Amino acid sequence: MTEEASDCASSSGEDKTEAGNYFVSNYPPFSFWGEDDLPCLESLLNSPEPGTAPLGLYYHIPFCRKRCHFCYFRVYTDKNSAQIRRYLAATMKELRGYAEKPYIKGRLPKFVYFGGGTPSYLSAQQLTELTDEMKAIMPWDETEEVTFECEPGTLREKKLEVIKNFGVTRLSLGIENFDDHVLETNGRAHRSGEVFRAYEFARSLEFEQVNVDLIAGMLEETEDNWKDTVRQAIELAPDNVTIYQMEIPHNTTIYRNMREEGKLTAPVADWPTKRRWVDYAFGEFEKSGYTVTSAYTAVKDPEKTKFVYRDRLWAGADMLATGVASFGHLGGIHYQNLAHIERYQEALEEGRSPLSRALLTTEDERFLRELILQWKLGQVHLDYFQDKFGENVEKRFESVLARLDERAFLKREDRILHLTRDALLQVDTLLHDFFLEKHQGARYA
Ligand code: SF4
Repeated sequence: MTEEASDCASSSGEDKTEAGNYFVSNYPPFSFWGEDDLPCLESLLNSPEPGTAPLGLYYHIPFCRKRCHFCYFRVYTDKNSAQIRRYLAATMKELRGYAEKPYIKGRLPKFVYFGGGTPSYLSAQQLTELTDEMKAIMPWDETEEVTFECEPGTLREKKLEVIKNFGVTRLSLGIENFDDHVLETNGRAHRSGEVFRAYEFARSLEFEQVNVDLIAGMLEETEDNWKDTVRQAIELAPDNVTIYQMEIPHNTTIYRNMREEGKLTAPVADWPTKRRWVDYAFGEFEKSGYTVTSAYTAVKDPEKTKFVYRDRLWAGADMLATGVASFGHLGGIHYQNLAHIERYQEALEEGRSPLSRALLTTEDERFLRELILQWKLGQVHLDYFQDKFGENVEKRFESVLARLDERAFLKREDRILHLTRDALLQVDTLLHDFFLEKHQGARYA
């Protein structure tokens, strides 16, 4: 986006950052998931034949040192090691249960993802025991990628060695910003000194890929500070950088403060400014030889650096989710676990299901889900959808694509539709036009 365009846009009220979810992470929206479809998942798991889609495993660790002011996850900052052990035991009971189900039995994960919360909050010993047990239940012999999210301040050399040794190939560091004042103002637990130390350890251990996460538009972010953050991120020379635009969902500390002060607009940069900042960052990374591969990612070497988790998931893979509040997708059924740690643990300890809600998707919804998620890559391959779903995207979405054309958001090349950079930077706002009518305007929570 040009500065001129963004300045014009920023004068409009709707460009302000108001409370709510902006990021589209799945389809259909979560507000359509419910208890009614839980029996479908049970019967799928007990179906006589194992599934044939590639299988991934998501493992959720809900603990953090401190709650960030912009965090909208349910995280726990007060658990001691006995409580953590209880949680880990519950998750292993859950994984063992799945491994015995006919739909899963004998299948091995192609990718494993440790998310949170802060997976690196666990001690080196807890991580060793946990991953030994996970592999004993479901070996990682066919695993192409193991991703592990880290908060830089939780990493010591010994712990990083353990993380490398149990098989992590993609280490993801939640840096967010390099300025200590911005980090502190946003409630982050780490400071920049810990980032540099953790990064150096990680590089010395030769992880296959190191990703760094940044957020454009944190509290008190300024133009100059953002440019400096981008400069320092480039100097680190990560394999990938992932850049999110700050959103303020309702269950964040920032929103609570807004409500108390009677404010509708969040005290962070407006959307055009955040888009311009991401555009700037992408431009600087491109000058350093990186390639933009999605609305949020730039990659140093796209030939070598894959993101198996994202690419498989966005192409309809099965994902077995374990851990409190985690989201999974099996055989066309979305599901989520109980979102409160006590209820989740009690369910497993008492031999009950820890599931809270599910949605049996239709073939059409599965097509739309893949289409919506793949738009985030900035390109849609028409033949992929024709071959896999028998859907002619151009015909079905003629009027939506015409509107994108009117805004000069589309480029066509052979049988591929490309989003322009302007469009890519606001892709989450464009995706709703591809939703079924009944899902438009739905809550993303
Ligand atoms: S580290 Fe991540 S999960 Fe933990 S509180 Fe901060 S934003 Fe939330």
